[in-house]
Amino acid sequence: MFIGIDVGGTNLKAGVTDEAGRLLASAHRPLKFRGAETFAADLAALAAEVLQAAGGTCQDVVSVGIGLPGAVSGGEVLFTPNIPLAHVPLAELFRSHMDVPVLLGNDADCAAVGEYFQGAGRGVRDFVVLTLGTGIGAGIILDGRLRGGEASSEAGHMVLRAGGEPCPCGRRGCWEQYAAAPALIRRTRAAMKAHPESLLHRLAAEQGTVDGRTPFLAAEAGDETALTVCRDYVENLAEGTANLINLLRPEAVAFGGGVAGAPEALLLEPLRHRVGELCYSRHGGRSARILRAELGNDAGIIGAALLCRATST
Ligand code: BGC
Ligand code: ZN
Repeated sequence: MFIGIDVGGTNLKAGVTDEAGRLLASAHRPLKFRGAETFAADLAALAAEVLQAAGGTCQDVVSVGIGLPGAVSGGEVLFTPNIPLAHVPLAELFRSHMDVPVLLGNDADCAAVGEYFQGAGRGVRDFVVLTLGTGIGAGIILDGRLRGGEASSEAGHMVLRAGGEPCPCGRRGCWEQYAAAPALIRRTRAAMKAHPESLLHRLAAEQGTVDGRTPFLAAEAGDETALTVCRDYVENLAEGTANLINLLRPEAVAFGGGVAGAPEALLLEPLRHRVGELCYSRHGGRSARILRAELGNDAGIIGAALLCRATST
């Protein structure tokens, strides 16, 4: 059995798969961060829970893969911009609770591995997964091999606007400050302030909050303010995506993470159109297909579970 754990900005998810990446059991819980030691204990408790649900014991575990939203090296988490983990020997802390082989990886790398083996990237040798959540993650597979591995591809921190919004990574104007979920929420709230007549107010009151779905729901109902928010969002997403496609020239780019669940007509359709206009391939040659990731919430855990296979693809 292979255990995969996906550490998100707000949630922990874990699953057990067989060697092909078929999910046997999974569970999730909100992430309450109270220091590195407690964090490792929480991860191990969740791993034990899914292992038991799959009918396994520690003896059945080939490896545990942990996908983290930042940079890792060996068994250490170096830096995560959206949760407070820096220079934490996570593999060792985890093994003090569950003595099994532990591999750390970047969360988007894990999502790409999951989609490559089991989802939208099957048979696509040059393949990129972009995750749209608390940050923007990029997992890049070139010629069937995960790029980096030990050094994550930090596409969310390429600068889209020099001197723009400050980012927890230390730079200004990073792509994720314009096209990850918190940016979309910030932009929605600002539009609500400027437009008291917008349907966004009623939806936010019904939902009890504004989240990444709110602008898309209002836009689907024809609200002009929300439509503008969604169009601006797609524009920012398209600029960064076109940069990446020009650089890597992949066959396909699949979008995952919470925001990618938005209605096709408001997100991926206009994105395809805009990326087509912006990419260098408008002059001819191969253009990249824009897809929706297929594994949804499970991509990260399946990919983390298969991490030990990714380096040998
Ligand atoms: C981090 C990446 C991560 C992405 C998605 C970014 O802020 O720097 O390492 O993959 O968020 O979680
Ligand atoms: Zn940044």
